Amino acid sequence: MFLWKTIADNASFIFNPAVRLAFLILTGVLLGFQPAHAAQTAYSFDEFLVAPLRIHLLTAKDVPALHTTLVESDIQRILVKVNKVWAAAGVHFYVESILKEEAVRQNLFDKEVAKTELAWVKRHYPEKSRITNAFNIYYIKQFGVNGVYFPDSIFVKDTASLRKVENGLDEPLPRVTSHELGHALSLPHRQNVTNLMASGTSGFAFDAAEIERARAAARRFNWIKPAGVLLAEADRLFGQGQKSEALKIYQILALLPLESPQLTQVRQRLKNAKVAP
Ligand SMILES: [Zn+2]
Repeated sequence: MFLWKTIADNASFIFNPAVRLAFLILTGVLLGFQPAHAAQTAYSFDEFLVAPLRIHLLTAKDVPALHTTLVESDIQRILVKVNKVWAAAGVHFYVESILKEEAVRQNLFDKEVAKTELAWVKRHYPEKSRITNAFNIYYIKQFGVNGVYFPDSIFVKDTASLRKVENGLDEPLPRVTSHELGHALSLPHRQNVTNLMASGTSGFAFDAAEIERARAAARRFNWIKPAGVLLAEADRLFGQGQKSEALKIYQILALLPLESPQLTQVRQRLKNAKVAP
C-alpha cells in the first residue's frame, strides 16, 4: 500500500528529456518571478483539520551531516509558510513541541552508505522522543535528497534546494516540509512543475483530487482533529476551570487562516486572558 512506502525525493527527473526541456523553457521566462504564498482557503472553521507536528532538531558532534543549524525561529517561519500552502486543502499544522536532541549511534555513520541509501538516517534518531500521535519531522544538515518520508518519520535537510517555478514558494524548507507532509497524507508524486507533489520544484499547487485524498487520509489519523472538535474540547476545559489547558488549544485555533464567529470568540478569550495567539 502506498502509505507504507518510503518516498524519496531526488533529482532524477532532471534526466528525463521532456522535463529537462520544460525546465529550460521555464527558466527562460522566470525573470519576473515573485514569491506568492498568500493563504487561500475554501474551507470553513468546522471543516479545517488540525494536525500536530513534533519537530526534532538533530545535533551531532561527530557527524556534521546530522547536525542542523536551524533554530526555533526558523521553525516558526517555516510553519507559517507550510500553513499557507496547506490552507488550500483545509489542513492546518501546529507544533506540539520542538526538541533539540543529540543524534544516536553516531559511531555507526558511514559516509559511503550515506551516498547510496536513504534509510541510514533512521539509525540516528533517538527512539524515545518519537511519538505516534503527531508527525515527527527531523531536520538534519546533509542528505542525498531534499527530504524523505518514512511512515514513522520525515527527514528534511537544512541545505535543501529547489528549482524555482512561477508562483512558487520563496524558500525551499517550507516547500520540502509541505511536500513530505503531502506524502504523509497519502499523496503520490505528480510531476507538474507548479504542483506541491512535483519533485524538486518550488511549486505548491494542489488539484481537487489531491485535496480530497489528503483530507481523507488526515481523517484516518485519530490525532488529527477537526477544528470544531478541538474547540468543543477547549470550551469544555474552559467551562471546568482548566483555563490554561483551554488557552493552549485556543492558541492553536487562533492561527487558522480564516475569519469566523468561533474564531472571534477564541481570539477574544485569548485577549481577555492576555495570551498572545
Ligand atoms: Zn516526494
